[in-house]
Amino acid sequence: MTAQRRALIETIQEATSHLDAASLLKLAHKRDPKIDRATVYRTLELLKRLGMIDELDLMHLNGEKHYYEVKTQKDHMHLACFNCGEIEEFSSPTFEQLKQEISAKKNFEIQVMRLEIGGLCERCAGQRKVLQ
Ligand SMILES: [Zn+2]
Ligand SMILES: [Zn+2]
Repeated sequence: MTAQRRALIETIQEATSHLDAASLLKLAHKRDPKIDRATVYRTLELLKRLGMIDELDLMHLNGEKHYYEVKTQKDHMHLACFNCGEIEEFSSPTFEQLKQEISAKKNFEIQVMRLEIGGLCERCAGQRKVLQ
């Protein structure tokens, strides 16, 4: 793995939020000034193919932007707030059960299961109640 690829993976791993390609480029550039746009896109494609990262559209909160995160053992759901754009993660044993149920009933070997939920986060829903 090249130094540039490593720098990009580290950037994704250390990110505290879900980042799009442009933000990743900005952060990775600080780590390795040789990283350019083309490297970022090429590396993201490769990591996606290798199953190391997931690409998310997060309810298209920001148009066609895609976000990236390092794949974890446990699949999680993303809760996207339509008002402030906050993304929260949620995992539940029920989600894992549902996966097993689908596999069993449809004889389908699930490799990835993604669930995105759009709505209002606790803060925004609370604010709306105050305004009403
Ligand atoms: Zn919100
Ligand atoms: Zn996530």
